[in-house]
Amino acid sequence: MAGTLIDGKLIAKKVRGDIQKRVDKLKEKGVTPGLAVVLVGHDPASQAYVGMKEKTCIKLGIHSEVYRLAEETTQEELLGLITKLNNDPKINGILVQLPLPKHIDEGKVLDTIDPEKDVDGFHSINVGNLVIGKDAFVPCTPYGVIVMLEESGVELTGKHVVVVGRSNIVGKPVATLALQRHATVTIAHSRTKNLPEITRQADILIVAVGRANMITKEMVREGTVVIDVGINRVETGLVGDVDFEGVKEVAAQITPVPGGVGPMTITMLMHNTVLSAERR
Ligand code: NDP
Repeated sequence: MAGTLIDGKLIAKKVRGDIQKRVDKLKEKGVTPGLAVVLVGHDPASQAYVGMKEKTCIKLGIHSEVYRLAEETTQEELLGLITKLNNDPKINGILVQLPLPKHIDEGKVLDTIDPEKDVDGFHSINVGNLVIGKDAFVPCTPYGVIVMLEESGVELTGKHVVVVGRSNIVGKPVATLALQRHATVTIAHSRTKNLPEITRQADILIVAVGRANMITKEMVREGTVVIDVGINRVETGLVGDVDFEGVKEVAAQITPVPGGVGPMTITMLMHNTVLSAERR
């Protein structure tokens, strides 16, 4: 039996409708939320993501500034720009597109962003606050995953959530958010033994690895909810980490790629930017 599709585009549209209302309300008070996106170098995927973020800002009436810096930009120059944006009252959110060129210390850059403008939620203070359950900017992709589950009526309490991938931007924060919602959480990674045995225990399987179609039908138990965060470019276009055609036969609900988690990531970035403006 084929599972139900979790339509990221549709859920994103609904959430963006709510965000639009909040933007309009702020504007009535004379406040326009502002997002600055900083891109260093010319990675094609990063360029595409930055373009989509800019477009979404414009659609929602959020002030957008994009800084496209040369690959050779020095760390000092980048830190200088961030400091300037930290002090700019028009800017409520600052996002530095990752990955950065190798000569730049990513941690240093992220920790230079004012935590109150850190709409990506990667500053050490926001990461720490998230883990201990204090108010924090929640990283956009993990946040989007949780909102998708909630909007699809998937209860997390008491469920076994298996997260494949332990990156700071997806795996770890999504596991933290699931734990906060009272799920029992297992995190798997490249050194995990018997991965199929573990993924087959999942009620909810969240995959963020970056390997095309690595999760096959045999690795998923009947009735599992499957969230595919992966985006992989293959000859035929974009595919996720989950073998969609096979796994949809056993999953209760499943996200497609594209049109799944991707649209939610940008939506939650807009949410965080508006939230930052509302807090001012
Ligand atoms: P990273 O490369 O930072 O992390 C990948 C994780 O997968 C690591 O923890 C790694 O383990 C684990 N891993 C690698 N190989 C295996 C394996 N064979 N079995 C089990 N685990 C494995 O990736 P990201 O978290 O940044 O991104 C993951 C994917 O999500 C990518 O495809 C990326 O493009 C996509 N993505 C999509 C977004 C969206 O908006 N939809 C946003 C962000 C990312 P270890 O730690 O041991 O190395």
